[in-house]
Amino acid sequence: MQEFSNDRRLFFKQSVRALITTAAGSSLAFAAMRAHAGQSAVTQTRKTQAAMTPQQALQMLKDGNRRFLEGNPLQRDLMQQIKATAAGQFPFAVLVSCIDSRESSHLIFDQGIGDIFNARVAGNFVNDDILGSLEFACAATGAKLIVVMGHTECGAVKGACDDVVLGNLTQTLANIKPAVAAVSGYEADRSSKNAKFVQAVADKNVALTVARIRERSPILRDMAEKGQIGLTGAMYNVHDGRVTFM
Ligand SMILES: [Zn+2]
Repeated sequence: MQEFSNDRRLFFKQSVRALITTAAGSSLAFAAMRAHAGQSAVTQTRKTQAAMTPQQALQMLKDGNRRFLEGNPLQRDLMQQIKATAAGQFPFAVLVSCIDSRESSHLIFDQGIGDIFNARVAGNFVNDDILGSLEFACAATGAKLIVVMGHTECGAVKGACDDVVLGNLTQTLANIKPAVAAVSGYEADRSSKNAKFVQAVADKNVALTVARIRERSPILRDMAEKGQIGLTGAMYNVHDGRVTFM
């Protein structure tokens, strides 16, 4: 009886969907074409990069995440972008994010070839090598914005909360431990089983990483103070694809 009613429900759903598709299909397709009209991606050049402010770079990422959420990406000829960027790259932003398979920066910000740098390490922290990479991106290559992006449900943050010991990962997680220590309270449960505690540590880890970039890179601090680059934190929600800037 249960199976029969589930079948009927499924059949009803499919019928309604077919009806909506048939009735609205042509106008939806037309609306999508209109939305895409004139919205091809611009490949970054020396000129576009030089003309961009840090605020505009941030807005471009916000707009890109909105397009991603709406399922309305820019039209992009990746092979053409490969040809256009082969002789030189002029990305407008650099991201520090986790290796997590659910948060590919190029997908979630709707960006193409040559648009953004992305340094990825489990737990999105910075060390000397990543700071050097950020200096390369901004001081040598002209990127206008640094974004440190954490994400919800981060396995590395959970591992740091639980004091996981595993080969080289132990040392990797040590970079997140200052964030664990800096989150007070949650005395009842300071383990990965406490989702609120884990998220508080993830938020703190982003804030501390942004602060560490300023502290440990005089080059980037100077560029930020002069308004040549922006520096901000962000959090990606693996449940809905949304990026919230801090
Ligand atoms: Zn992660």
